[in-house]
Amino acid sequence: MSTVTQPRVPPACVNRPRVVERLVTGMPTSDGAGVKLTRVLTQALQRRLDPYLMLDAFGSDQPDDYIAGFPDHPHRGFETVTYMIAGRMLHRDSAGHEGLLENGGVQWMTAGRGVIHAEIPQQEEGVMEGFQLWLNLPAQDKMSAPWYRDFAAAELPRFTTTAGVDAVVIAGESHGVTGAVSREATAPLYLDLHLPAGSCFVQPLPAGHNAFLYVYRGTLKIGDDTVPERRMAILANDADSDGVSIEAAADTRALLIAGRPLGEPIAQYGPFVMNTEQEIYQAVADYRAGRLAA
Ligand code: MN
Repeated sequence: MSTVTQPRVPPACVNRPRVVERLVTGMPTSDGAGVKLTRVLTQALQRRLDPYLMLDAFGSDQPDDYIAGFPDHPHRGFETVTYMIAGRMLHRDSAGHEGLLENGGVQWMTAGRGVIHAEIPQQEEGVMEGFQLWLNLPAQDKMSAPWYRDFAAAELPRFTTTAGVDAVVIAGESHGVTGAVSREATAPLYLDLHLPAGSCFVQPLPAGHNAFLYVYRGTLKIGDDTVPERRMAILANDADSDGVSIEAAADTRALLIAGRPLGEPIAQYGPFVMNTEQEIYQAVADYRAGRLAA
């Protein structure tokens, strides 16, 4: 059973929609113990898409591409948001959290000062498809206590517009529906949109917030631009823009992600994202000494 909510308020108008600044093709790579994935938001885009640090898309029906999973590894200084479209993955971490992530479910983990966790597939065949998004923490929260929550598909707020667009609100607020998670500093918006061919969807966005769309099925139109399948569209931040307006050129599924930039220095070494090199050396030293997740 899922929570289907009709929009409680009519969608706010978008009069000066954002345009597409550029389209991005992800980079094929592998991570963990050999999971094949596409890095859509790479390190080179961290400054442009602040507060987001990474978006990985994984999707395969070949067990060899995912079976090895992500054995024990550390994180410090940011949040990971895993959205499973299809498949089963078990999470276990040093803070004592455990959860099974299944079709349509979301796992939100705030690494804070440090967690060591494993993400292991619980299937030996079939499709595994989903996304992992990394959201930065402000300097003042980087050494906060770890936090973890998982949401089954039925627990995620969702709504259907009169145009037939089905929206899952993972974070933020859309059409009067408040998402599963909110964060004051970065004000993340994370929507999964299912748009029937020919339908439109509007979302107000503060002009200063960085925003992007990732089309994982079908094709979108944004103004005069076409965003094909498996492309990310970075939306321009024109000072007078008030949101985004999208139209589905076919049955389409897309993620719409936005947030308030932190504007702080970003220092990353693998799974550690801090503000300075010194803090990175400290994270590595803490991990080696067994203090990271102590
Ligand atoms: Mn991880």
